[in-house]
Amino acid sequence: MSALRVRAVLRGAVQGVGFRPFAWRLARDLGVVGFVSNTPQGVLLEAEGPEAALELFLRQVRQPPPPGRVDGVEAVYLPPVGEQSFAIRDSGTVGVATAHLLPDLAPCGACLRELLDPADRRYRYPFINCTACGPRFSILLGLPYDRERTTMRAFRMCRQCQAEYDDPMDRRFHAQPNACPACGPTLALWDSRGTVLCSGDAALLGAAAALRQGEVVAVLGVGGFHLMVDARSEEAVRRLRARKRRPDKPFALLYPDLAAVRQDCLTSPLEERLLSGADAPIVLLRRRPGSGRIATAVAPGLRELGVMLPPAPLHYLLMRELEFPVVATSGNLSEEPICTSGPEALRRLSGMADRLLVHDRPIARPIDDSVVRVVAGRPLVLRRARGMAPLPVSVGRPLRPVLAVGAHLKSTVALARGDAVVLSQHLGDLGTPEAGAAFREAVSALLSIHGQTPAAVVHDLHPDYDSTRFAEATGLPRVAVQHHHAHVLSCLAEHGLGPPALGVAWDGMGLGSDGTLWGGEFLLIEKEGFRRAAHLRTFPLPGGDQAAREPRRAALGLLHELGHPPESGLFSEAELRLLGALLKRGRAGPRTSSAGRLFDAVASLCGVRQRATYEAQAALELEHMLPEEEVIESYPVALHAANPIVVDWGPLVEALLADRTRGVPPALLAARFHNALVEAIVAVARHLGQRRVVLTGGCFQNRYLTERAVRRLKEEGYEPIWHLHVPPGDGGIALGQVLAAAATERETCALPYPDRS
Ligand code: ZN
Ligand code: ZN
Ligand code: FE
Repeated sequence: MSALRVRAVLRGAVQGVGFRPFAWRLARDLGVVGFVSNTPQGVLLEAEGPEAALELFLRQVRQPPPPGRVDGVEAVYLPPVGEQSFAIRDSGTVGVATAHLLPDLAPCGACLRELLDPADRRYRYPFINCTACGPRFSILLGLPYDRERTTMRAFRMCRQCQAEYDDPMDRRFHAQPNACPACGPTLALWDSRGTVLCSGDAALLGAAAALRQGEVVAVLGVGGFHLMVDARSEEAVRRLRARKRRPDKPFALLYPDLAAVRQDCLTSPLEERLLSGADAPIVLLRRRPGSGRIATAVAPGLRELGVMLPPAPLHYLLMRELEFPVVATSGNLSEEPICTSGPEALRRLSGMADRLLVHDRPIARPIDDSVVRVVAGRPLVLRRARGMAPLPVSVGRPLRPVLAVGAHLKSTVALARGDAVVLSQHLGDLGTPEAGAAFREAVSALLSIHGQTPAAVVHDLHPDYDSTRFAEATGLPRVAVQHHHAHVLSCLAEHGLGPPALGVAWDGMGLGSDGTLWGGEFLLIEKEGFRRAAHLRTFPLPGGDQAAREPRRAALGLLHELGHPPESGLFSEAELRLLGALLKRGRAGPRTSSAGRLFDAVASLCGVRQRATYEAQAALELEHMLPEEEVIESYPVALHAANPIVVDWGPLVEALLADRTRGVPPALLAARFHNALVEAIVAVARHLGQRRVVLTGGCFQNRYLTERAVRRLKEEGYEPIWHLHVPPGDGGIALGQVLAAAATERETCALPYPDRS
């Protein structure tokens, strides 16, 4: 029986997950010789042995223990060379990187056991990790993933750590962030001016004591600082709100464990699985009726709480000490990226935190918490960041290597690589220097880490977005993609689907290909592009951008469009005189088909909110006031045959106003409004006869709207497609842009720019 030799390249999540020791043990058990090595292309291995053993080896090596994952194997046969053993070789550094980068992972069970074992040398060591858990993307400087190309290169391993790192049989074999109290990062507690108060375990205990006393503590975690405060203390939470200049936007909560979460929230098995996942996201959960432990200032006006479990050993230890939930909100001002270093925190978070719990493991890039909500029995990712980015989104077909720079809010960037798209972490809203820096860093990391030169850069049609200006400055061939087209393609892409489809893209606003502001779109997606088949009736937005922050202005425009006088008491006499005159002359502001602004207007008419302090606040509050029991009635919506079809909410608003006059409670008005929008989607789908209906855009973060649309479309025989791993909001735009550009052969602007004047 003669020996065979095979050379194989394995792609997938195969680096930094203990893949090489796994292959080594497998080879030893099967009597196979050869070697395994990390390369920028993935894992390279050569294996030699009897045919049967080799076959078994190649089959089993595709099934590594989690979080490892093999997505593809390319193998060729070679002449045998007659080695004596199987070796783990050092990494090479040449070639094009195609291996998956891994995200940061919450501590595994084995590490948590050691963390709490007084006999273990890493007892209470907040930076414990192994090949199954710990930081990855947040410490990564380049590929291949080796210690010298992480921020851990500053720490020299002690003899014991080095021995673990070198031993193929050890759980920490080539665990790049491997460290212990003798050789690794340490904690320190600072006062608000940066004076070191104490270090090590004393720092952790000091931070816990400060939190217990109601102080605000900035805690440097995996991808940046959290601002923490006792979530049970109304006064402490209000103090944080005042300092952060964030009056209403809900704060996320960090809990010690699932049992504590269950005290305050209702959880389904799926929600508990999401909470306990290695990506440790914020999960939006319904409050448990009657549980009054959490301060009302945590999420004013909302029925849900954003909850996460400890994403790192540091948080695990801190929460074990506290045994009560704390607010854990990103250490930043409003929509800026999360702050990532001690000195930066003294500058940017000064005046916000009483104490800072910091460490000396440098963070390579800001990475916020991910956010997920269960919708229609499935997770729906609302923000894709820690634990999820930069895992690629497989789209099932080869793409041109293009770089996409996203939109303006909830910014992300993306790079096409083979048949997958690497989508960056959430970068915040562009427009601040910090967001601009994070944006540029994310682009250069995408390009340098993946060693790719893009053939083109893809951007939004809007000429004034910072991302568009960045794209222009690259000097690369450009492709401009319409905002809502990108929304629909992002949703199709994450399900590996393509045209034809009817895309229902509803959001705040995006520039349309006719130069007007779109946001309530029904797009027929075709191979060559899209056709705007229908849209919501347009109405004027008095004050333009200001209207996005003032639902009362959207209501004013809506009522004007219907020939109704303004609501009394919402504006001053002077404001009304000015806006009334402008409206009459058609100069109060732009007209828009925005569904988001329609939600705002209805929230105003229902008396829910007249001024918003964060994006989509009025729509969110409208959703959260919906009645618990099912409401069947809905308001009428008319379709006007035209090209495109106009979906007229006129009858809807008239019926709502009549109900309101009759004293129908606002919760019922809200339900009938939501139902009417769903019936409008069904009616348009029926009119256009397209079976596949894609629900995308920020409005489909709304659980009620999405679940009801999914249910009604299914009942009527349609195939609803909604988001899963990629956000329905603008965080998904970059993915859709890649797909739009990959579908076009032209390397210049595929769509005309609107007039800049
Ligand atoms: Zn571990
Ligand atoms: Zn050590
Ligand atoms: Fe959008």
